[in-house]
Amino acid sequence: MSQPHEKIAILGGGPGGYEAALVAAQLGVQVAVVDSDGLGGACVLTDCVPSKTLIATSTTMSVVNGAQDLGIQVGRGQARVDAPRLYARVKALAQAQSSDVAKRLAAEGVEIINGRGTLAGPETIVAGGQRIQASAVLIATGAMPRVLPGSEPDGERILNWRQLYDLPELPPELIVVGSGVTGAEFASAYQALGSQVTLVSSRERVLPHEDVDAAVVVEDVFRRRGMTVLGRSRAAAVRRTGDGVVVTLEGGRTVRGSHCLLTVGMEPATRGLGLEEAGVTLDGRGFVEVDRVSRTTARGVYAAGDCTGVMMLASVAAMQGRIAMWHTLGEAVQPIGLDHVAATIFTDPEIATVGVTANAVESGAEDAMAVKLPLATNARAKMQGFRDGFVKLFARRGTGIVLGGVVVAPRASELILGVSLAVEQSLTVDQMAHTFAVYPSLSGSLTEAARRLMRPPGDRR
Ligand SMILES: Cc1cc2nc3c(=O)[nH]c(=O)nc-3n(C[C@H](O)[C@H](O)[C@H](O)COP(=O)(O)OP(=O)(O)OC[C@H]3O[C@@H](n4cnc5c(N)ncnc54)[C@H](O)[C@@H]3O)c2cc1C
Repeated sequence: MSQPHEKIAILGGGPGGYEAALVAAQLGVQVAVVDSDGLGGACVLTDCVPSKTLIATSTTMSVVNGAQDLGIQVGRGQARVDAPRLYARVKALAQAQSSDVAKRLAAEGVEIINGRGTLAGPETIVAGGQRIQASAVLIATGAMPRVLPGSEPDGERILNWRQLYDLPELPPELIVVGSGVTGAEFASAYQALGSQVTLVSSRERVLPHEDVDAAVVVEDVFRRRGMTVLGRSRAAAVRRTGDGVVVTLEGGRTVRGSHCLLTVGMEPATRGLGLEEAGVTLDGRGFVEVDRVSRTTARGVYAAGDCTGVMMLASVAAMQGRIAMWHTLGEAVQPIGLDHVAATIFTDPEIATVGVTANAVESGAEDAMAVKLPLATNARAKMQGFRDGFVKLFARRGTGIVLGGVVVAPRASELILGVSLAVEQSLTVDQMAHTFAVYPSLSGSLTEAARRLMRPPGDRR
């Protein structure tokens, strides 16, 4: 139960900050959120929500352009995107989402202070001419796009993803530097929207940290759709020419395009906030060091979200923020567990994962059996006209407890929940196999995968 004198001050109004504020308000504590750029944070205003809104359009473009194969006559040629209208929609939707967050916080009685805040010791935030004294402080300031030295974005031709939605047109020839999650998502989306995309990957294949089979499927689809994927090609510099850009790769080769999108990682927004002066330890890259209940090294100071670098996902930021509040307000709290986090890469097809990885299974780190079923033979997939994708399931040898899975499919982000539930609740493949799936459905392949893992050991592939 909260004490009458308690007040929580939160620096940053993204998912890490605003979800924490909601928990504290629900527990009856006074809360103030200080934010400089808009509630919902970069998540809502510039990163997650805008990119997924853009992808909603690019996915629809793919459906429209593939409609003829399904027996629909759609006029001559390919559908074309109206870029100014698309970008206006993206920005309006993000703003609307941000004001929904603001309204929700206000309705819960959370004090909102607009402005850049800094710490003046472990119990005080200074912002907008105010000193906010608190019994606990939460740092949730997020992260910023990393800049490739010597290739600073100009917002016109050399861009980070936050600048895309101010362009007056669809980039005709887009070079995407970086083939991690953000690079792959934008490359996939712009290719579908009609740009000629070149993806520059410093590694052998795209999505180097993801399930290899999934990454191979996505890279094959990229190439088949006409994307140029340059593997083992590290960008050394990006230079603007009159009406375009030149990307120089290490080794001297050059690639020309109309625009260049840099997706080379994130840096924590932790500089100049008075953190270290307040006793908060930052690691070598500037991320706030936290334990599993979001405590920093300064008593009473917690941190959540991208500024901690724990796992850069909105869902994880929100959970870290909530845990911080439950902990500081004396509620029962479980330390954060990152083994069961479901995540999706919103390429087309999407890659959704949860639980153990194929690497861990193949290396023997997990004593598990695995099955992979291509979706090409799934009746629903045939009806919908796609064949690139699979479901993969991992289960503990002996007990058959589901340990994880990978789904590569359109809307894999929705399909993974079945596997997430099984992992979270320690369900067995037998229990999953006895669960009814709709016929015809893609989720039917998940129960089918579970059935395959029920076979006698000698019969398992
Ligand atoms: C392109 C892209 C797509 C993504 N897509 C997904 C996705 O599909 N799913 C997913 O789960 N995650 C996604 N993410 C990750 C997700 O956006 C982040 O994990 C999430 O934003 C982290 O939330 P946060 O609260 O830590 O920080 P943020 O959302 O960055 O919010 C931090 C807030 O703090 C404010 N702030 C910073 N410093 C100060 C200061 N000194 N004073 C006051 N305010 C300050 C900022 O202005 C900002 O409003 C994506 C990221 C990117 C880059």
